[in-house]
Amino acid sequence: MNRNRIAMLALLTLAAAGFLNFPASAQSSQQHPRVIVLGVNGMEWDIIRPLLVRGDLPNLARVIERGVYGKMRTLSAPNCPKIYSAIATSTSPEENGITGFFVGGKTANTKMLRQDPLWSILSRNGVSVGMANVPATFPVMPVNGYMVSGMLTRGKGCEDGVLCSPKLSEVTDGPAVYPSSLVSELRENVGDFSIDCARMPDAEELRGQEAKVINGWLEQVSRIRSQQTKLFDFLLTHHATDFTMLAQSCEDRVGHWLYPIQPHNVGYDAKLHTVRPEAFPDQYRAFDRVLGRILQHVDANTYLFVISDHGIKPLREFEENHLGYHAMHDHGGTTPVIAKHDYADGDDVPGVFIALGPNIRRDVRMFGLPISVFDITPTVLSIYGIEPPKNMKGRILTEIFEKRGSEQSIAGVGIGLEGQSDH
Ligand SMILES: [Zn+2]
Repeated sequence: MNRNRIAMLALLTLAAAGFLNFPASAQSSQQHPRVIVLGVNGMEWDIIRPLLVRGDLPNLARVIERGVYGKMRTLSAPNCPKIYSAIATSTSPEENGITGFFVGGKTANTKMLRQDPLWSILSRNGVSVGMANVPATFPVMPVNGYMVSGMLTRGKGCEDGVLCSPKLSEVTDGPAVYPSSLVSELRENVGDFSIDCARMPDAEELRGQEAKVINGWLEQVSRIRSQQTKLFDFLLTHHATDFTMLAQSCEDRVGHWLYPIQPHNVGYDAKLHTVRPEAFPDQYRAFDRVLGRILQHVDANTYLFVISDHGIKPLREFEENHLGYHAMHDHGGTTPVIAKHDYADGDDVPGVFIALGPNIRRDVRMFGLPISVFDITPTVLSIYGIEPPKNMKGRILTEIFEKRGSEQSIAGVGIGLEGQSDH
């Protein structure tokens, strides 16, 4: 361990103990690579593939053409806090302590995290870190930069923090922003934004006024998305960091109850599902515009990972529960849910993996499920030259990188065939 790392460790220990704060705006340093990880909760290939073919996602298409893409293997019964914590620590939910929305009857929170997440390891190694709206990052942790919490932030009208959206001014039970000096700056420049996506209406609210409630709710979702886009843009512009991780939740939330299903699908209700059949695909069209904004901050030397913790699929007849009702505990309990992701077999709802960067291969499709949620953190650490801790379950995704010139010349033509483009 070099002197810098020891100094950084000491700083982190002090910061964690509340003795000091990291500088309000850590500078993005020249010597560190720049990595942006954009998490899209429940991004589903089944929905985005046809949109890509139709030319509805021009920015995502551009990223895919310039990078490596494929499915990402998730865990069994996946949900956001569980998978984001597995991504960040590259350890199983049992090892890292975040097994779901609730752990031991309490809403999952960062105090329960028993393994070092990616942002702490990077901070300790002198890499500046910026985080916004990543699930299960409440209360925020001290990092070498800034952190704005995401899903599971608790506040007014959102006491358990589960799938609801307190505004910045309404947060309770802990800080949603690190360092605290950033709060007033955000209030001034971004506004009093909602931290997570809107809570889904319940069956009672919907009855008899389906169209009105759906349209009103979707307006709220698009307001939250604009605030979030403004937040991301502000942070990327005024607080550039070496490593930045941003996440969005509205796509998944809309998919759960407005997935474009057919009359033969489980849970179909014409009164609900003919109102806005494009509501869910529209979320990806809106996401694509957000991606366009983020791409303005991505130059030829920036690595960009677009990932989803899991996909989302319509309910299946044989999995209907004994009540004949699909209300999910994990999603508010009372919303007439028609799609979900917490299937026992996580291979049924793989996430999305897309990577682009200075030495990342171009237009390469990965078949099957060779990439796992556990691999993101080791791969990001490797970009910074940091060796992944031994207990990490994932591996460095060496196959997404171009082979170095020297390796090519030594290995000759043959090695070029390994993991080649499958077009
Ligand atoms: Zn979900």
